[in-house]
Amino acid sequence: MKHPCKYHPGTEALWYCAYDGLYLCQQCVDGDEDHRMEARCLLCNHDLLPAVQS
Ligand SMILES: [Zn+2]
Ligand SMILES: [Zn+2]
Repeated sequence: MKHPCKYHPGTEALWYCAYDGLYLCQQCVDGDEDHRMEARCLLCNHDLLPAVQS
């Protein structure tokens, strides 16, 4: 696990907010898996970047 979620320490983060410098997991963003490529930060509402570059 490269980066744990800010709010779920046992969960790997899938998203990164460059504005806040936060790593967030899918639970924090949205439970809807149909929109996993369009995530927004729950704090600042900026677009999130994928935490893991593949
Ligand atoms: Zn989380
Ligand atoms: Zn943010």
